[in-house]
Amino acid sequence: MTTYNPRSLKAEEFIHDGEIRDTLAYAEANKNNRELIDAILEKARPKKTETGFVSAGLNHREASVLLACEDPEVIERIYKIAEEIKLAYYGNRIVLFAPLYLSNYCVNGCVYCPYHLKNKTIPRKKLTQEEVRREVIALQDMGHKRLAIESGEDPVNSPIEYILECIKTIYSVHHKNGDIRRVNVNIAATTVENYRKLKDAGIGTYILFQETYHKESYLKLHPTGPKHDYDYHTEAMDRAMQGGIDDVGLGVLFGLELYKYEFAGLLMHAEHLEAAHGVGPHTISVPRLKRADDIDPDEFDNGISDDIFAKIIACIRIAVPYTGIIISTRENEAVRSRALHLGVSQVSGGSRTSVGGYAGYSPEERPHDTEQFDVSDQRSLDEVVRWLMENGHIPSFCTACYREGRTGDRFMSLCKTGQILNCCHPNALMTLSEYLEDYASPETKDVGYRMVEKELDRIPKEKVRQIAEDNIAAIKASNRRDFRF
Ligand code: SAM
Repeated sequence: MTTYNPRSLKAEEFIHDGEIRDTLAYAEANKNNRELIDAILEKARPKKTETGFVSAGLNHREASVLLACEDPEVIERIYKIAEEIKLAYYGNRIVLFAPLYLSNYCVNGCVYCPYHLKNKTIPRKKLTQEEVRREVIALQDMGHKRLAIESGEDPVNSPIEYILECIKTIYSVHHKNGDIRRVNVNIAATTVENYRKLKDAGIGTYILFQETYHKESYLKLHPTGPKHDYDYHTEAMDRAMQGGIDDVGLGVLFGLELYKYEFAGLLMHAEHLEAAHGVGPHTISVPRLKRADDIDPDEFDNGISDDIFAKIIACIRIAVPYTGIIISTRENEAVRSRALHLGVSQVSGGSRTSVGGYAGYSPEERPHDTEQFDVSDQRSLDEVVRWLMENGHIPSFCTACYREGRTGDRFMSLCKTGQILNCCHPNALMTLSEYLEDYASPETKDVGYRMVEKELDRIPKEKVRQIAEDNIAAIKASNRRDFRF
């Protein structure tokens, strides 16, 4: 018999099946308990302080009660608080990034992923360094500054040395005014030693989706290959932190298991990182299972509706106010629009999920041969940027925090002391101006500079505002780039 222990470094103790089941029973029993729900919502509401805002967040039990509640009036209140928290901590900025697929060779048997070893219909491809260069130039020409690299797991075709070489190549490319300033990494669970190498290579966030926290299902969904080892996979973030990476990104692949179970597991994982390492997850991703080569999502029983998806996002926002939420182009424009109001702080744009999907293709052309999943939002980055601004969000290409050493708990303290408006806000406006100057269509540029002008007025400190204005003037008048606070 194991007992629940968030501080433990053993998967079965910090993602404790019994605790999840008790949580779900508690949530079900209390889903109409208005007194309790009112108290939970009051706890979650952001409170203004002298230096900024504080929101206590919620533990997995409290958040699970909210997720279980079906009362439309309560759900509206959850949405409202989620948006208040989003605005209090992140303002109206939305960070942009793109995935870069390096290789789809894979030795695992994940039954939901087209890269699984037994799929003989998908062509296998791995980028050479010259191809990485070409992809990076294409991404820089779109305006991207932040990438998430993706790879299947294959110790022979894509060992850690290959990943490190690709990271080096990515950072080395400076095409026109472009550069990639933050490389986040989404590769299979690995050793402390390899995490240290990734840290030394200058990566931003290490991202690894749990796929499912439900061990029995996990073992069935990952029948073969190294990823079959549930404990090794679940304890990966602990090894990453031991290797010196303090920005880690969690995620569940919604559609594989019952969402209430996954939600409790996800929050318990976040609580574990905080309890064991003193810093919670930097981001949480919310991918939903998609159609792909050899994969039919209808064969999985646990697909969730758009309404439930929205509720999950809002409840995550409320539970972990200091954790960024990422939504990818797996979702269409309408779903992403809604999610932006419920707490999402990062979106991908202009994405290709095939290996070598950027270079040599026009915005309308889309290679499907090596694709990982169908992309629902197929708009160009320029269209996504304009759409964000037309809906009141500031597209941000900022990468300053980690480059200034504001990772892990130092980033959290920036949030908590309310310095976002004096730091992240001007950084967003300066990087947006770079985008407008170097890559935007005339229409986007027009909408963008009107937004920049209006938003500069919201910087509280006079001196900071003046510096931001001067830097934006320099961006317009010269090739000077990469200003940051
Ligand atoms: N191989 C790595 C691993 O095992 O974690 C890296 C990542 S894989 C390229 C990125 C993520 O895509 C996976 O973690 C999984 O959640 C997601 N994914 C796989 N198949 C998918 C599908 N059919 N629809 C949507 N997302 C999928």
